[in-house]
Amino acid sequence: MLDQPALVTIHGINSNGAWQSTLRSVFMPHFRYRAITYPHYRWLGGTKVLVEPWFLTIIATAVAGGLALGLPRPGSFFAAGAIVVVALIGHLLAAIRRRLAFVAVLRQFDEHVAVGEQPSCIAHSFGTYLFGRILMERPTVRCSQVIFAGSVLARSFPSQLLRSRTLMPFDELRNEIGSSDPVVWAAGLARRLVRHLGNAGLRGFQPLEERVHEVNGPGQRCPTCSTSGPPVPWAIHNVRIKAFAHSDQFITPRHAVQYWLPALWNIDVPEFGDWLSLCMLASFAGRPSVHAPKALQAEQTILERNWSWAGSTIESFIGSEYPDVGKAMQEDPVQALRVYRAIWLAVSRACENAETHGDDPEKIAFARALDPRIAVQVAVGVVA
Ligand SMILES: [Zn+2]
Repeated sequence: MLDQPALVTIHGINSNGAWQSTLRSVFMPHFRYRAITYPHYRWLGGTKVLVEPWFLTIIATAVAGGLALGLPRPGSFFAAGAIVVVALIGHLLAAIRRRLAFVAVLRQFDEHVAVGEQPSCIAHSFGTYLFGRILMERPTVRCSQVIFAGSVLARSFPSQLLRSRTLMPFDELRNEIGSSDPVVWAAGLARRLVRHLGNAGLRGFQPLEERVHEVNGPGQRCPTCSTSGPPVPWAIHNVRIKAFAHSDQFITPRHAVQYWLPALWNIDVPEFGDWLSLCMLASFAGRPSVHAPKALQAEQTILERNWSWAGSTIESFIGSEYPDVGKAMQEDPVQALRVYRAIWLAVSRACENAETHGDDPEKIAFARALDPRIAVQVAVGVVA
């Protein structure tokens, strides 16, 4: 029995995926998490994507030796032909390395994801290329939420995907784009040398069936989705983040909590930010604190608002999900206030333990209430 949804992350080149270890504490309270790693591009990653450096080194040494002996002479027809052949062989060997890395990633993906399961995936840099190949070459793979950062996939990748399958293989794709990313820029230059390689992490995915939307900031609402009625079956969001370059330094626990967790839960990202800050403030309600006046105001705001994850107000959500509790709350306002304040407290504790819980089971349980639906469940359980 799979009690939690699957989540995999895939790192990029010139990296051992340290960010995945850092973010483990953020993901593991909420997901069955697997950090996928591969050693094939740990050093000289960019070069290895195009040619095999060890092969070029051997050949360069041999050529230097030949020139030292006087044969063949530089500029001769033979030398020019030899350089072309060497480059082609080096490129072919690089394709074999890409294939080996792909197989290593696919094997770990298959080990972690059950047959028929729809996992979520977060990939950075060359990890987006490897995951893109899984989507291209495995028509049975279908994902829930996909998040790319610094993607080196081709801008036309979504349309290429739709050519090979009848349905888009994910519910939503969040493509986080930096304003200056030399690695993605270089990948764009090399796009004619390696199939599916490109600069989608710099210029965004190309428009497709009016479902590729532009979002100007990581915590901003999509202007298209917020005005076009019901959610579309699949959508791709090019999310522009000015402060980002390419390094995985930006992949911090705070970034993952604020932007990636709500995206993975299919919760509106800016609304999630409001929820956390309002609950943190409201958690002071009923307690002696300098925040008390603002806390009561925050409490009122939370209760009056319609939350998309709840499909309604908090009161209606509880009445629908927990009818007995909802009825008791209607009959007894004091009981209602106890439940509400237990929610704010659960969220506040979740925020305190969201990034670091040290694998302490009690703190992990607190962190789970970062999901608003779990926070309500916890509060209902505590008060009942
Ligand atoms: Zn949208």
